[in-house]
Amino acid sequence: MSAFWTDDRVEQLRTLRAEGLSFSKIAARIGGISRNGCIGKASRMEMPAGEGDRKLKPRMFKTRPPAPPPIPEPEPISPPVTLIAAGPSHCRWPLWSDDARHDFRICGHAPEGGSPYCTHHRRRSMGAGTKSERVAA
Ligand SMILES: [Zn+2]
Repeated sequence: MSAFWTDDRVEQLRTLRAEGLSFSKIAARIGGISRNGCIGKASRMEMPAGEGDRKLKPRMFKTRPPAPPPIPEPEPISPPVTLIAAGPSHCRWPLWSDDARHDFRICGHAPEGGSPYCTHHRRRSMGAGTKSERVAA
């Protein structure tokens, strides 16, 4: 026990706390001790919290609802083109199949300006995009 906290002061702290006084008022009454000094002593004595003590409320975090999963677009029905027959006017998206090793084909739709892929496959190659892009689509 520190020299400050005599039995009388401890009893005074206990009594004033039981009366519901705040630690700053208790510190002023006892004198010679700070509010934090009183809090520390009360904590070490495992005094129950008073009515006026701030109780920590669980925080209510604002959470965003999870973004809806992107709606998969159906594969465009296209006449698959073999890689050898493909020209600049064919989407280059590979169409895999079980027999891809023997019959490798690509999408074959008209590519979107500047892209090697058609509109559908360009979107697939780019991913879901930004929210505004998803809204615009
Ligand atoms: Zn395509």
